[in-house]
Amino acid sequence: MGKSLETICIHGGWKPQKGEPQQLPIYQSTTFRYESSEQMARLFDLEDSGYFYTRLANPTNDAVAKKIAALEGGVGAVLTSSGQAANFYAIINLCGAGDHFVTSNTIYGGTFNLFGVTMKKLGIECTFIDPDWDDEKIESAFRPNTKCFFGETISNPGGKVFDIERFAGMAHKHGVPLIMDNTFATPINCRPFEWGCDIITHSTTKYMDGHAAQVGGAVVDSGNFDWEAYGEKFSGLTTPDDSYHGIVYTKTFGKMAYLTKLVTQLMRDLGSIPAPQNSFLLNLGLETLYLRMRQHCANAQKVAEWLEKNEKVAWVNYCGLPSNKYYALGQKYLPNGSCGVIAFGLKGSREDAIKFIDKLDFISIVTHVADARTCVLHPASHTHRQLTDEQLREAGVAPDLIRLSVGIENVDDIIADIEQALR
Ligand SMILES: *Cc1c(COP(=O)(O)O)cnc(C)c1O
Repeated sequence: MGKSLETICIHGGWKPQKGEPQQLPIYQSTTFRYESSEQMARLFDLEDSGYFYTRLANPTNDAVAKKIAALEGGVGAVLTSSGQAANFYAIINLCGAGDHFVTSNTIYGGTFNLFGVTMKKLGIECTFIDPDWDDEKIESAFRPNTKCFFGETISNPGGKVFDIERFAGMAHKHGVPLIMDNTFATPINCRPFEWGCDIITHSTTKYMDGHAAQVGGAVVDSGNFDWEAYGEKFSGLTTPDDSYHGIVYTKTFGKMAYLTKLVTQLMRDLGSIPAPQNSFLLNLGLETLYLRMRQHCANAQKVAEWLEKNEKVAWVNYCGLPSNKYYALGQKYLPNGSCGVIAFGLKGSREDAIKFIDKLDFISIVTHVADARTCVLHPASHTHRQLTDEQLREAGVAPDLIRLSVGIENVDDIIADIEQALR
């Protein structure tokens, strides 16, 4: 199979043999039949590999996970039922009660809450750092019980570009892996493993699916982090697991240690697998991911440039604009384009922003981004509506911030819709 991303999008994960379906089949089955008790016993004793229960493994899910792993250049991937589950599992596969991790503070709101509130209740603490701080200030967040460092390639909705090389170096200096949510960039525009990142997560709900058809997530491992070099810190991977035949993951599974532990412990005990039907839909999205990302980025660039020149627009945040604070980082990590998501503000009040989005025609108001259809959200009126202007600013969301997710329609039509609404 060819190695280019376009080709992997089409052929990755599923290679039909003689007489098999060209399109990935949906194995909509909870379980798989064996011919003898002995065959089944061998699976449970880990002497044989094979499917037996969909919570642990399913051929449709596995094929799509393999495609995503190939796109990211990882050793493997596990699909989850949502992006939230992916980020949760990626962290708790390393952290237990009493552990700590460091995370960028410019991350998706759902992740921010998961880390700062729900995981805290489980006894896992995190320190939020601003990636714009200097090294010394960020490094002071690392503690002896710190287990990982987390960030987003392009933050949602802030649009900050994460300096992957810098932060991978910092994580490794402190003996922990760098975990990155690569949802907005997708592997088409950025492959964080090539810059030293160790583990990648995705909300496949967004560009990977691209059609607002399913909610899903993925965890991908580069296989590069040396768990045994810090064996005591990562004892869950380097000492026997009594709940799983006394196996030592790093010894038995090598580069697949982290993902095997994630499936055998977290999927086994907590669930959160995607339905095979959803993985099939995700796979259809992945087939056109390369094409769509090109169009999203070309359209968003034109829309951002147009907005920047418009007199009714107060500010535009898009890293493809040379005036943007993150332009240089964008050129380094996202030379072929970043994503379709633009944040901007109108001159005027919170109410003017509302009037504008109410006048849009085919650009739809939805709690969703990174979709083939152009869509818009005003966090101050929607996701963050309970907050005052002051509280919004404290949360890093300007009261006038409009999040525009540029789709793959004709760009002149998109601009015309914005223009008539502004008028
Ligand atoms: C949407 C999103 C998530 C959460 O994913 P769900 O699939 O909605 O659970 C996580 N990270 C980022 C960057 C997102 O945009």
